[in-house]
Amino acid sequence: MAVRLVVFGRQGAGKGTQCKLLAAHYGAPHISTGDMLREAAASGSDFGRQAKEIMDRGELMPDEIMLGIIKERFGAADVVEHGFLLDGFPRTLAQAEALLNQTTIDVAINIEVPEQVVIDRISSRRVCANGHTYAAGDDAIAGGTCPEDGTEVVQRADDTPDAVAARLATYAAQTLPAVHHLDEAGLLVTVDGLGTPEDVSARLVAAIDERLGH
Ligand code: AMP
Repeated sequence: MAVRLVVFGRQGAGKGTQCKLLAAHYGAPHISTGDMLREAAASGSDFGRQAKEIMDRGELMPDEIMLGIIKERFGAADVVEHGFLLDGFPRTLAQAEALLNQTTIDVAINIEVPEQVVIDRISSRRVCANGHTYAAGDDAIAGGTCPEDGTEVVQRADDTPDAVAARLATYAAQTLPAVHHLDEAGLLVTVDGLGTPEDVSARLVAAIDERLGH
């Protein structure tokens, strides 16, 4: 059975972690537009370099580009068969409107975490080249390398205090209208994002299953 889910949450709300768990639980492809853009940036292509500049400033990529990326991804066989879990899209009102015009959404989840908590979480976030995520000061990364794959563990360029403030402002100005649009369409469920990843995941699954009528 295909499920079509959207997950909203301010940066640092645990969205990435939760999306991986939910995608595995529901057997739906995890579509993270941020991961797709970071892959492009790592490839060093012209497009990737431009994307990296925008991301490092905490700004958003143009809607037309993101709509093109999503349209192409939606055409892939795994999405046609299993649906999707959208992480980081839609990010603007225009993206939300375009999404609802081109497909059906079963549930949109809003992971709610107070702003000061997300600021603290993001400024202590450290990641390796393959996206494994740790907290600064974690013993596992004391040597400066990832215990999973040995690559260097660093702070994301867009996790510095200035970039974090810019991203939160961008979220409030540009993404909240997208959240409201899905709310007005009767699709939004807000879930408390505080607690252990397991607690939050259990809450999300319960909320989604209720909406899906399971
Ligand atoms: P994320 O990992 O979801 O926080 O995304 C990282 C960065 O990629 C964002 O701060 C934006 O610059 C860019 N980005 C990701 N998804 C979108 C989108 N749907 N629209 C515009 N920009 C995006």
